[in-house]
Amino acid sequence: MTTNVDPDKTSESAPIEIHLSAGAAAEAAPSAGAAATAAPDQPDLGPAVFQIRDMGVWYGNHEAVRGVSMDIPQNAITAIIGPSGCGKSTALRCLNRMNDLVPGARVTGQVLFGDDDLLSADVDPVDLRGRIGMVFQKPNPFPKSIKDNLEFGMKVNGIKATAERVEQALRDAALWDEVKDRLKAEAFSLSGGQQQRLCIARAIAVEPEVILMDEPCSALDPIATLAIEDLMKKLAERYTLVVVTHNMQQAARISDFTAFFMLGELVEFDLTSKIFTKPEKKITEDYITGRFG
Ligand code: ADP
Repeated sequence: MTTNVDPDKTSESAPIEIHLSAGAAAEAAPSAGAAATAAPDQPDLGPAVFQIRDMGVWYGNHEAVRGVSMDIPQNAITAIIGPSGCGKSTALRCLNRMNDLVPGARVTGQVLFGDDDLLSADVDPVDLRGRIGMVFQKPNPFPKSIKDNLEFGMKVNGIKATAERVEQALRDAALWDEVKDRLKAEAFSLSGGQQQRLCIARAIAVEPEVILMDEPCSALDPIATLAIEDLMKKLAERYTLVVVTHNMQQAARISDFTAFFMLGELVEFDLTSKIFTKPEKKITEDYITGRFG
């Protein structure tokens, strides 16, 4: 499904083109099973991989995220958008306990992943990060060879690092053809876009269920950005993706669902096609039409 928003009403010059995969459209259809689990105020968007309830994050005395409840749909791309500093990255980092690594950070509420509350002290964050991978804004390969970058993560996660698995991860990340003859070259010899695809390959290599991406294209040029966006759409056939982006056009191009955050709160979460054409809340409309931000 593709539709356009009036370009004159957006903060950026090109029209916002909205992507919606057929799978996500089918999943968004009402289903008896999912209705019982839907978050308050959220339309039924199909089976959820995360059920987030009243999630909040404090950095010392500063409340960065508050009262977030939403269900993140499976095998689809969910974009998190909103003005800078509204808590997008903070909320994303809760989903694989990365805030544990931030001194003074405290997370409240509940995040069900399957039957487990992943915020519980009983959940091993290292094990969890094997199931929920993360790709960061700036490509961060290890200072090792291309091949070692993939093998290291596999070994840490108890997966046998075979040549076939290395090849498959690189193929899945659309990088194999560019590096197959130089697997022993340093990862830092790759271009920025290639390094980011290597980081995606490294995340895929440990066979996660979910991939979190925090502004994965913001350090890349437009051509590398398009390559990563194409890759994300392919990955959504097998994985659940949650992507923070400050770029509304990117959210519209790649995502099936969009969550709009403001001042640490979730304002609205719905099909991307709905958020960008007929949002429920006036403030969402003001943001997506560029009246502020
Ligand atoms: P966004 O991703 O929407 O730009 P962030 O999640 O990065 O927003 O930040 C939300 C709020 O939390 C901001 O006020 C920011 O200054 C604060 N913040 C983010 N990271 C930290 C940190 N490590 N320590 C203290 N405050 C932080």
